[in-house]
Amino acid sequence: ATPTAVMVSTGIGASQGVLIKGGNALENAHKVKTVVFDKTGTLTVGKPVVVSTMLFSDVPIQDFCDMAAIAEANSEHPIGKAVVEYTKKLHQQYGSNTEHMTEVKDFEVYPGSGVGGNVNGKRVLVGNKRLMKTHNIPVNPDVEDYMSESEQLARTCVLVAVNGIVSGAFAVTDPVKPEAERVISFLRTMGITSIMVTGDNWATATAIAKEVGIQTVFAETDPQGKANKIKDLQMEGDAVAMVGDGINDSPALVAADVGMAIGAGTDVAIEAADVVLIKSNLEDVVTAIDLSRKTLSRIR
Ligand code: ADP
Ligand code: MG
Repeated sequence: ATPTAVMVSTGIGASQGVLIKGGNALENAHKVKTVVFDKTGTLTVGKPVVVSTMLFSDVPIQDFCDMAAIAEANSEHPIGKAVVEYTKKLHQQYGSNTEHMTEVKDFEVYPGSGVGGNVNGKRVLVGNKRLMKTHNIPVNPDVEDYMSESEQLARTCVLVAVNGIVSGAFAVTDPVKPEAERVISFLRTMGITSIMVTGDNWATATAIAKEVGIQTVFAETDPQGKANKIKDLQMEGDAVAMVGDGINDSPALVAADVGMAIGAGTDVAIEAADVVLIKSNLEDVVTAIDLSRKTLSRIR
């Protein structure tokens, strides 16, 4: 496209809430044949809520929730926020005071699997099964049962280990965005295939994919795995767009021919992307590709 065409289209995009950072993205977007969507915060609203809890040890529920919430207090991840929110509500409900709440020490984020830290001298890990595996923490059949039960309901199970033992779990649910199914079906009419990549487990991922009409799913992928998936798809010859919101999506956003970040996403994702969907509405994936198609056909 001519510099003028790029400038005009960039302006049109901006006025519609689609921020295009440079001519390359605009040139590449019309070639896109595959759009890879992250799940949490991208296809889903990204505001998961805790809908059930389960204890596998004899700690009181409040102490259990406090430990998890303290460990997650600094977490940017929506699941972490859900745990904190749930614990707050629990305190409100019982009118208990939170003055005794300490702060987490040695806080650590394990992107794509959870968080960890020291709470009152106890080593607490909050996250998925992979997080437990990488720390050599056994996941017993009771825990497995609760997990698969939750996952079949499209919920994500969050495990909490205290000093090396899974002492309880939360099930969180995160509804899909109202426009998700419509956008994916519209992309199909444009000749574009939609794929999901997620760090979440296979059962939950498959249940969500079905809700929005996505047939191809790659679950339990870490941030580098997401980027590798993009590269694999590129090897098949067509241009690939990635839509994501998290730190965990940044390598994939960079690897993609067109990286699109959800406006409400993390700064790291927004920086890594070529296009920012300011309104956080998935319809704007279509807007961006359409704009590119029009820009390039205008000059031909
Ligand atoms: P997605 O790809 O769906 O956005 P992430 O890659 O961010 O998900 O995370 C993958 C999985 O890791 C989550 O589904 C969750 O099970 C777990 N996880 C990540 N961060 C946290 C956290 N702060 N607390 C608990 N679990 C987490
Ligand atoms: Mg996400």
